[in-house]
Amino acid sequence: MNHIAEALAPFGTTIFAEITALAARHGAVDLSQGFPDFDGPDFVKKAAIDAIDNHHNQYARTAGIAPLNRIIAHNWHARTGIEIDPDTQVTVTTGCTEGIAAALLGLLNPGDEIILFEPYYDSYPALTARVGATPRYVALRPDASGRFTFDPDDLKAAFSDHTRAIMVNTPHNPTGTVFDRSELECIADLCRSRDVIAITDEVYEHLVFEGAHIHLQTLPGMDERTITLSSLGKTFSLTGWKVGWAIASEELSRAVRAAHQFITFCTATPFQHGAVAALGAPASYYERFVAEYRSKRDYLCDSLVRIGFKVRPPDGTYFILADHSAFGTGDDVAFVRRLIEEIGVAAIPPTSFYAHPEHGRSLVRFAFCKREETLRSAVARLEALAR
Ligand code: GLN
Repeated sequence: MNHIAEALAPFGTTIFAEITALAARHGAVDLSQGFPDFDGPDFVKKAAIDAIDNHHNQYARTAGIAPLNRIIAHNWHARTGIEIDPDTQVTVTTGCTEGIAAALLGLLNPGDEIILFEPYYDSYPALTARVGATPRYVALRPDASGRFTFDPDDLKAAFSDHTRAIMVNTPHNPTGTVFDRSELECIADLCRSRDVIAITDEVYEHLVFEGAHIHLQTLPGMDERTITLSSLGKTFSLTGWKVGWAIASEELSRAVRAAHQFITFCTATPFQHGAVAALGAPASYYERFVAEYRSKRDYLCDSLVRIGFKVRPPDGTYFILADHSAFGTGDDVAFVRRLIEEIGVAAIPPTSFYAHPEHGRSLVRFAFCKREETLRSAVARLEALAR
């Protein structure tokens, strides 16, 4: 008997859980779900351990512990020049995924429309369905250079009188696109003229190799109509800590909090203390972080090209979206099955990120947030494809 609520039933089990389990069963080198196979920094781990030892083990304030809200607001000001009130404009969430849920549940009504770029992170359409809103999809497609972008006319056509919000993920998982100023201006123009709220997912904001990350919220007129979501997990290699946050005007924060208080009430207290230490990291931390990831990116991209994949190196994120057509192994799901079962490497079949799966069948997503030896052993196994 099926007990799953109607709205969620079509989504099945997330591809991340499915592939991670399959990879473990086959002993595959796992380049599927985006989590590092190394730990975050010791000074951050120690701050959380100290918090546990020092009795920070009860519920936190629902919007976040005061020092964490303060340092998030401080860093936002340092990066954007915009002053925000830590107590009313920052909401700590249990990872960005909870932030997405809180924003959609807190903001949308049944019948509202929300614009989603595809490919997307799979929680966007699932939560959209659960709140009874209608997704309007805008395709990101490769241009002549292989960079994924949208057609401004498609975006314009997706807006209607019912549009309440747009989800904007930049740097973008899985394509690696970092939206440039003209793309963001185009989104901002439409948001302003159609009175639409932007919800941004910026969890890869510090993982940019080419160009620069721009916060949509900093564009003219966007401060009062943007909810900026981010998290600690990717930047500090602590994805299991599940600490994220939402930055928004007091009014929009109220909508996020209306849902957040009933989803988790608050985020794990000791990890919030760890996050305070992390967010105090000096600029050198971020420089080293990007340099290390750049060398992982280059190594895996070069290897994949040599083996026969078609690849455009990502401008941001720790994912490579490669074209596997040269190997003649059917669609993405068939190809990933072969990779896991015969080659011994796990990756993500990206059609789970598409409402129109035909656009993703020739693609496969590899995560390079792995130790050098993991990447080397994955490449050694992938060489079998070239033979
Ligand atoms: N964002 C991560 C990825 O794309 C997965 C997050 C999750 O599994 N919920 O791999």
